[in-house]
Amino acid sequence: MADYQLFINGEYVDAQSGETFTTVDPATGQPIAEIAKAGREDSIRAIEAARKAFDEGPWPRLSGKERGEKLNQIADAIEAKSAAFAEMEARDGGGTIKKATFADVPSAVAAFRWFAKLATEEAEEVEVPGTPFPPSQNWVRYEPHGVCTGVIPWNFPFIMAAWKLGPALAAGNTSVLKPASFTSITALMLGEVFQEVDLPPGVANIVAGPGGTAGEELAASPLVDKTAFTGSTEVGRRIMQLASGTVKPVTLELGGKSANIILDDADLDIAAAVTLWGTFFHNGQVCESGTRALVHKSIYDEFLALLADKAGKIVIGSQMDFETDLGPLVSRSQVETVERYVALGREEVGEPICGGKRPDGLAEGLDPAAFYTPTIFAGVPNSAKIAQEEIFGPVLSVIPFESDDEAVAIANDSIYGLAGGVQSSNLDRARSVANRMRTGTVWINDYHLLSPERPFGGYKQSGIGRELGIQGLRAYQQVKHVHANPGGSRDNYIHLSALSGNI
Ligand code: NAD
Repeated sequence: MADYQLFINGEYVDAQSGETFTTVDPATGQPIAEIAKAGREDSIRAIEAARKAFDEGPWPRLSGKERGEKLNQIADAIEAKSAAFAEMEARDGGGTIKKATFADVPSAVAAFRWFAKLATEEAEEVEVPGTPFPPSQNWVRYEPHGVCTGVIPWNFPFIMAAWKLGPALAAGNTSVLKPASFTSITALMLGEVFQEVDLPPGVANIVAGPGGTAGEELAASPLVDKTAFTGSTEVGRRIMQLASGTVKPVTLELGGKSANIILDDADLDIAAAVTLWGTFFHNGQVCESGTRALVHKSIYDEFLALLADKAGKIVIGSQMDFETDLGPLVSRSQVETVERYVALGREEVGEPICGGKRPDGLAEGLDPAAFYTPTIFAGVPNSAKIAQEEIFGPVLSVIPFESDDEAVAIANDSIYGLAGGVQSSNLDRARSVANRMRTGTVWINDYHLLSPERPFGGYKQSGIGRELGIQGLRAYQQVKHVHANPGGSRDNYIHLSALSGNI
């Protein structure tokens, strides 16, 4: 039996094939657990359970208030185990225990609470006042889609699970979630929470396994009504293709290459700190990371010196130590990807001003092949591959500019449009720049701060649709218009004469 099993129809079960896979602590390479490896047949099982729970079970028939209460119970139960969730999130994915404790677990709880509030307070039926067809009445209903599936990446597995399950369940859908294989455990642990709060069987199912089989079924199945995906743009395109077979609505949260613009009137010390936070938080394995720093020419040299000095103070080490700023990357293959891009950067623009290697002097037991130093390339043309392609590692490209218009043009010269930043002491000027950036989120004098009340998502090839906010709930609802003619009198049917006065 696997240490962590799939969660299907309210129960923990092994994969039908009996296969398992090993998940490791990326810092040491030591195994953490054996996990049941779902194949296509397990996804089908989970989808069928969700289908039955939607078609016959109580969940979609509860009031919004009742669903809200259950989501709050889920949030309470996670909070009661928050240390266990944080420890496993950090150990399995390599993000620091500091991040898991203060960001991942509280953010997931906050997302469940936000969608609980929306389930409780948002009307499921809204009267449309006034009608061109008196004396009819009209109303709009927000109804669940049915079975909603979600496929999520490895960088913020616990938060991503909450962002998919929270709105799906709040709207009365049932769901199947697939975490990424590197980081399946905390999503699978949610099954215990669902059992504890007596979530009806089949309402939330979790399958861990390869994207090419278990994942594809979740997008392609005719029993699924809506699918949501967070991950790379390349796999996002595949999800769209698979979903098109049954014309399913999709929401996609994809890659990014966000620009953080440092204007010449910025407080340089703070802007440099914000730039490092915006780029190197979680080793740059964050979709909205500000991996292009656009810096005004008049402050360029001073700013570069500040960046390099501060980057040297970032502490690299075991992710389980609260003093650590950067732990390992998620996998050795991710470090190798970073190394390939750093080699390319050396060809394209020369030596980085800092980093560019694996760290020295790590504590015993930590594998240097899993870590990488924060790396900054200066004087990067925006056309360089390291400025255009998502690296998903601790690599920053610094790009000079001379005017606000030029900064906006460079920022928008990307296939992506997920996020960005503007650092300036003049809020009006910063706002004007922010408004012209073609991205779903912009931070002024800040970076990375998200909260469930505000929508998040991308323009261009960074995605379709929004998560969080009220928009995040609407993505999980169908909209129905009902027109009600009171009938009874021929006077209420004068429009029938458009066909014939004789019927
Ligand atoms: P990925 O696209 O390789 O995998 C994401 C998920 O998709 C995993 O669960 C994987 O198993 C699954 N998958 C892979 N192939 C599949 C297929 N053919 N059909 C169905 N599912 C499949 O991404 P990743 O490496 O896990 O994560 C990094 C990427 O995610 C980056 O590009 C990053 O920008 C993006 N990301 C975006 C956001 C956002 O909100 N925009 C958030 C986090 C990560």
